[in-house]
Amino acid sequence: SGNSQCSSALHIVHIAAEMAPVAKVGGLADVVAGLGKALQTNGHLVEIILPKYDCMQLDQITNLKVLDVVIQSYFDGNLFSNNVWTGTVEGLPVYFIEPQHPSKFFWRAQYYGEHDDFKRYSYFSRAALELLYQSGKKIDIIHCHDWQTAFVAPLYWDIYATRGFSSARICFTCHNFEYQGTAPAPDLSYCGLDVEKLDRPDRMQDNAHGRINVAKGGIVYSNIVTTVSPTYALEVRSEGGHGLQDTLKTHSRKFVGILNGIDTETWNPSTDRFLAVQYSATDLQGKAANKAFLRKQLGLYSEDAPQPLVGCITRLVPQKGLHLIRHAIYKTAELGGQFVLLGSSPVPHIQREFEGVADQFQNNNNIRLILKYDEALSHCIYAASDMFIIPSMFEPCGLTQMIAMRYGSVPIVRKTGGLSDSVFDFDDETLPAELRNGFTFARTDEQDLTSCLERAFRYYSRKPMVWKQLVQKDMQIDFSWVSPASQYENLYHSAVAQARGVAQT
Ligand code: ADP
Repeated sequence: SGNSQCSSALHIVHIAAEMAPVAKVGGLADVVAGLGKALQTNGHLVEIILPKYDCMQLDQITNLKVLDVVIQSYFDGNLFSNNVWTGTVEGLPVYFIEPQHPSKFFWRAQYYGEHDDFKRYSYFSRAALELLYQSGKKIDIIHCHDWQTAFVAPLYWDIYATRGFSSARICFTCHNFEYQGTAPAPDLSYCGLDVEKLDRPDRMQDNAHGRINVAKGGIVYSNIVTTVSPTYALEVRSEGGHGLQDTLKTHSRKFVGILNGIDTETWNPSTDRFLAVQYSATDLQGKAANKAFLRKQLGLYSEDAPQPLVGCITRLVPQKGLHLIRHAIYKTAELGGQFVLLGSSPVPHIQREFEGVADQFQNNNNIRLILKYDEALSHCIYAASDMFIIPSMFEPCGLTQMIAMRYGSVPIVRKTGGLSDSVFDFDDETLPAELRNGFTFARTDEQDLTSCLERAFRYYSRKPMVWKQLVQKDMQIDFSWVSPASQYENLYHSAVAQARGVAQT
């Protein structure tokens, strides 16, 4: 980060729907917290704005208090009051917006999946900008994430910049192009945006007739657009773009892929309080102890210590390669390994399908499916497992392969998106040996996964010393936010410099 040291500190505000560990659904939450902390460590002033969800983990917030000021914000022809709460999460100052709106937007006992998500998050985006505007702060970067807060980009340039609140540049990170936030075009007007002006193919018009697309607005109206790995950034410019490929191509000069980091304080096997025993690359006894402990806790067969334990921790959605996850369970059973799946699905029929698989293995003491979200158990599985499987159909970045490696669990992944940028096949002789850290396969059929899994099992059982060295190597790879944060910093600095250049001429 030589570049950042000679540049001035920036005031950066993240507006997001999730932040770990207070309000976490998936990887987005980890990114907001991890990137925020890394930027703060580098001397920047970082603040976060979140909705005040009723289902948040309040015990993860210190000094939570409501501010005296009430922020009025516009929605659907009226002004509504918002209570603003402040608190500290992971050392970062966070503002929580609590709308006083009859629809009780964030009082739903869940984060997403409500029929009015489009309204809820357009409301939140508007209120968050209103908070910043009324605070009178001179902000350098407003960083919004995913479609839920992508409203911020057009709102900022069309409504706030013209009111003299124009110091900031907007960065939009899309964590997954499958979720774009579309609605009938008139719905865009709830938050005060001008539908006439924005419902155009080069602005926010969706490919589907009569609809508007918020992620598209984020791309068109932001100064910086990023996604979460270099390979995914290439994929979404073609088939992977879920309809946004042309928009991304048009705006490709401001679009880059930066591989996410992981929070190496949260994910540290030598200090992790969720673990039965802490351990490190130089003390793998501790890892064995965690395996023994988890087997006991889950009622798995534990006489045969060398049996490899395969872990999988995931949202159960089609993106994650559900047929391959199912196949990996059966194949592991057949190969004499053990499998632990921790996952839950927002889709009822998928949840039921996996409950069916779980029932099938009820009396099998080598296979366990735990079909819920459980933070504590996730740590124990990373620590206990020898291998970790991620057979995604597409994967913008993926965090679980990086966490797995840090805990000494060797990743077996499909070569796609961020998995391609972080996992390199152990047998790929075209790559430098020091880079090779896992097992990869390319196709989406069962056969390719089978042979990959078999290869990993062969190394595990026949070459224990080679395996041990691989585990130790994986544990020492730097997946911290240090490098990604400095890449974001460089983008921020050049956007700010460009803005100042424009202002001076
Ligand atoms: P995505 O964002 O698509 O869900 P990522 O790999 O980027 O996938 O991030 C997943 C994060 O969520 C990881 O931190 C993982 O440990 C966590 N996670 C996923 N499912 C569960 C679960 N059922 N219980 C606990 N943690 C989970």
